[in-house]
Amino acid sequence: MRDPRYDILFDPVSIGPVTARNRFYQVPHCSGMGRSRPKTLAAMRGMKAEGGWGVVCTEYCSVHPTSDDAAYQFATLWDQSDITANALMVDAVHEHNSLAGVELWLGGNYISNYDSRTPPLGLQSRPSTHGIHPVQSKRIDKRDIRNLIRWHTDAARRAVEAGFDIVYVYATHGYLLSEFLDASTNDRRDEYGGSLENRVRIVRELIDATRDAVGDKCAIATRFSVDLNDPESYDAFGLLAELPDLWDLTVNDYDIEMGPSRFVKEAALASDVGKAKALTTKPVVAVGRFTSPDTMVQVIRNGTQDMIGAARPSIADPFLPDKIDHGRVDDIRECIGCNVCYSHNSLGIPIRCTQNPTMGEEWRKGWHPEKITPPTPATAAGTVLIVGAGPAGLEAARVLGERGYDVMLAEASTEVGGRVARESRLATLSEWSRVADWRVGQLNKLNNVALYLDSEMTATDVHDTDAEHVIIATGSHWTTDGIGRHLYTPFNGNTHPSVLSADTVMKEQTPGHYLIFDDDHYYLGPVLAAELLRRGNQVTIVNPMGRLCDWGRHTDEHGAANRALYTSTATIATNQLLHAVTDNEITTRCVFSDRHYHYTADYVVPLTRQQPNDALYQALLSHTDAGKLSSLHSIGDCQAPGLIAQAVYAGYQVAINLGHESPEQGVGFKREMP
Ligand code: ADP
Ligand code: SF4
Repeated sequence: MRDPRYDILFDPVSIGPVTARNRFYQVPHCSGMGRSRPKTLAAMRGMKAEGGWGVVCTEYCSVHPTSDDAAYQFATLWDQSDITANALMVDAVHEHNSLAGVELWLGGNYISNYDSRTPPLGLQSRPSTHGIHPVQSKRIDKRDIRNLIRWHTDAARRAVEAGFDIVYVYATHGYLLSEFLDASTNDRRDEYGGSLENRVRIVRELIDATRDAVGDKCAIATRFSVDLNDPESYDAFGLLAELPDLWDLTVNDYDIEMGPSRFVKEAALASDVGKAKALTTKPVVAVGRFTSPDTMVQVIRNGTQDMIGAARPSIADPFLPDKIDHGRVDDIRECIGCNVCYSHNSLGIPIRCTQNPTMGEEWRKGWHPEKITPPTPATAAGTVLIVGAGPAGLEAARVLGERGYDVMLAEASTEVGGRVARESRLATLSEWSRVADWRVGQLNKLNNVALYLDSEMTATDVHDTDAEHVIIATGSHWTTDGIGRHLYTPFNGNTHPSVLSADTVMKEQTPGHYLIFDDDHYYLGPVLAAELLRRGNQVTIVNPMGRLCDWGRHTDEHGAANRALYTSTATIATNQLLHAVTDNEITTRCVFSDRHYHYTADYVVPLTRQQPNDALYQALLSHTDAGKLSSLHSIGDCQAPGLIAQAVYAGYQVAINLGHESPEQGVGFKREMP
């Protein structure tokens, strides 16, 4: 039963001519599916509606080929042929009595139009502001402005045909309308430039024209940035305050709006948004990586916002509203703020989620975040031994437990969580412990899963359990030889006593000067450096790329990660490879030339690759009793080290498939063909 404190979250909200059934609002978010995978997309968005989100929106939806963000996957409403694909998503959302919103989008200088091969239309003729593409935009003229309004309204009419309930005017995130609003990019001398009234004119005209186009069939939402550091943003907001039916508010700095939990916590936008809400009578929605219903109630009661906006929390748990509604708050699968979802969109592929392995698999594999199919009668449940209680083992145990198997989960150490337990103790990564915490909470509700800590298993131990199915999830370890992306052979002196593995440093640190050779290019190098600095050590970080945390550009953390280190006492060396370690010095060499550099440090930590802990799996494969097992699998990092998301996914996959005849026969999933 629902806790009455949370009743307010389930109040219906009028948005112009339509009414949302509650205050849970999935704001427009990228999915990496867009126009290329409409069925995958519809199933994913429909799942959120099924899980109780009262409003579910698309990703950015281009109104015309002059707004083309290839190779990212955006939605399109360019002509009538787009309507069917968009209607799939609308129907999936309507099936659960939720409203469907579409974020019409004009790209501006941000994009490159590689697919449509037309010049981007910008306020000035400038190079693309996103990435370093050799593309410059065309400076828009009056005719272009008239066209933009026409394209937008034509797309809005198509949105009505597709069945959408909410149509956006998208005036933020650096796209074209932001360029109009911003005095530093808007140098026009006509009625669209100069004074603030002139700079907001295009937004006003688009809201009016879009309303004329959709009549009373749809509400008009406007996505807009306000920022306490930018007082003019409130003046601009004030000029438009009563025009749309709903405000979807954010802040200027995307690193805050979308910031990973390393740098940004829950409800981070509240002060900026609250100030704007006082200036309008229209409902306001805003994100804040909300996972706590208490915080949600607080921001509504204190007048910050009317609706709880979410992208990531709805990805990690599509059933978050439903769980609050049914008094199952403990079951909420809280987003950890790792931004792996975002990374996949920015790679142009469907999003996935660390916490929710079913994300993106709703259509092609038929996976459901809450419904776990029991074994078919022909494959009645049996006994399963899982070795290793890291993210892979925990997830496999949870899903098999829910499917009715008797599960033994053996863990060598005295705690669960594996790498998640280790890493979440490091500076800034504490929220990542949610991966293990949520699974432990779920396992505690199952009486057919037994956890054995302090139980290092050998092949003989495994056979002695008489388990029918064995799943090995023994993880991986960081190596010290330096082999990785750039070095194919070990560096000289890799066995010198000063060379330590990242696992050793995570566990214990003798005070001193540490040199990290970071050929990993993701979070761990900067996080280890931050942890060492926090404990008073000296740090030098050597990197073969031009920037630290280069892959972190996909998770939107490389800016903050670099800022944190460049403003610390760490020494940073880029475009260098670890070459040799001796008693006296550490030598690196330039990636482009024969130039060598010399450093002194007490310890060297090569962060270059992990090695699977697969000895147990290999021993079981060749064990004399191997034939007695009904099945034997290795999963997660012990199969192939990678993202935590991949380990969780592997745990889910092996567990959901166990007992089914050749589930991975052929391709193993439905393919969405153009
Ligand atoms: P993954 O990310 O694939 O889940 P982790 O490294 O996070 O991998 O977790 C692996 C877990 O397996 C660790 O907690 C480790 O202590 C445990 N483990 C490794 N070898 C054994 C073993 N032989 N017996 C029991 N547990 C083991
Ligand atoms: Fe949250 Fe990470 Fe899942 Fe994205 S991938 S929704 S940030 S847990």
